[in-house]
Amino acid sequence: MNNLYKLGDKVIMKKPHPCKTNLWKIIRTGVDVKIECINCGRSIMMDRLEFEKKLKKVVIESD
Ligand SMILES: [Zn+2]
Repeated sequence: MNNLYKLGDKVIMKKPHPCKTNLWKIIRTGVDVKIECINCGRSIMMDRLEFEKKLKKVVIESD
């Protein structure tokens, strides 16, 4: 998968969070990527390869 993403982007993952929300915000990028659930505010961290594997799409936003 060849998605481009950057800090602050909102993303949809292949699996939703247990709180049923599937909209996340990228709050850290690098070797590890940290995303925060938009609904409940919990965050999870994973390595970049895992993130890119689980990423479904980047929600396009104008900035
Ligand atoms: Zn959540």
